Amino acid sequence: MKVNKNFAELSESYLFSTVAKKQRAYQAAHPDKEVIRLSIGDVTKPLAPAVIEAMHKAVDEMASAETFKGYPPEYGYDFILDAILLNDYKSRGIDIERDEIFLSDGAKSDCGNIGDILSPENRVAICDPVYPVYLDTNVMNGVKDIIYLPCTAENDFVPSLPVQVPDVIYLCFPNNPTGMCASREQLAQWVNFALENHCLILFDSAYEAFITDDTPKSIYEIEGAESCAIEFRSFSKTAGFTGVRCGYTVVPKALKFDGMSLNAMWARRQATKFNGVSYITQKAAQAVYSEEGKAQNEETLAYYRRNASLILSGLTDSGFRCFGGVNSPYVWLEVPRGMSSWEFFDDLLERCQVVCTPGSGFGKNGEGYVRLTAFNTYERTIEAVNRIKAAFGK
Ligand SMILES: *Cc1c(COP(=O)(O)O)cnc(C)c1O
Repeated sequence: MKVNKNFAELSESYLFSTVAKKQRAYQAAHPDKEVIRLSIGDVTKPLAPAVIEAMHKAVDEMASAETFKGYPPEYGYDFILDAILLNDYKSRGIDIERDEIFLSDGAKSDCGNIGDILSPENRVAICDPVYPVYLDTNVMNGVKDIIYLPCTAENDFVPSLPVQVPDVIYLCFPNNPTGMCASREQLAQWVNFALENHCLILFDSAYEAFITDDTPKSIYEIEGAESCAIEFRSFSKTAGFTGVRCGYTVVPKALKFDGMSLNAMWARRQATKFNGVSYITQKAAQAVYSEEGKAQNEETLAYYRRNASLILSGLTDSGFRCFGGVNSPYVWLEVPRGMSSWEFFDDLLERCQVVCTPGSGFGKNGEGYVRLTAFNTYERTIEAVNRIKAAFGK
């Protein structure tokens, strides 16, 4: 019996456990102080009432023989696929077809599982700093040729085209952790690069719902992307589904590599290894697209956006150089010169009782930054910003 030795190649991440440990230690030593977490990486507002109502109704349907549902279709019921098509694509002038959409239990699974249909011989390009899932799943799959695309203040945190041509490129905008977006022109550069070099773009659009201006929400808003890109979407940040679990992946039929259709391969992969999303969850997702659901979710998104904007303006006023915070729940703060991410983390905890996430935990180029998030309450976010202003402001 042999194991997948690639797992031994994974580097251990102590980021979130160390953050939690330091927070606990501080709180234990200062029981009278209120610690505020601007490090929360999960949504905090409850599901929209329209979603809850749809779930209750679906549960009731499961209780009677006439309306009971067994295995769902592998790729999603037509009612949800049609709602996705209409609301997320057709209404934005994007011509995607129903059998190009695959409903799933979330974008994290799909970002990892996509490796099943790709060769480990590929050269894979990953941004630095980055959402750790892309790197770790490639290491597990035995991908050896991984190149890093630096995302720094110099390139506005959108990677420049690499000299070494990769086979696969992971892009995520609005970005986690930097909170930055790629413009239409920047995305078009990447799409053209991928088309010219016959590479595949894996586009993670988990935060598209935070976009309020004409920044592209989908890679397919860029001409030619259907011939070079797969897109991952999720109801997690869009509609508070982190605990419900639902997302989807778009694999256009125009994607042909090595004489094979990626759409057919992904369909086969999902049908073999995945038995579909629960009916109750699909009804919940459908309700996200109802008029009430849209309005209710928009309120929640506006709440988070207001927090992000508060953090961005408050910290900028205090003299910090900040990025992101627009079209995104994340603010990326440049720590004072001469300090490391962790040194600033400790300083912020000591002086303001505010917890952040050290950027160095997201990759080498995250060193010198920390991530602040918009997922705490409005009141506590104001309090945290006021404390930072009082401690650091000029
Ligand atoms: C939160 C997040 C996701 C969503 O993952 P789910 O599995 O759908 O909850 C995907 N990508 C990034 C970068 C994220 O931050």
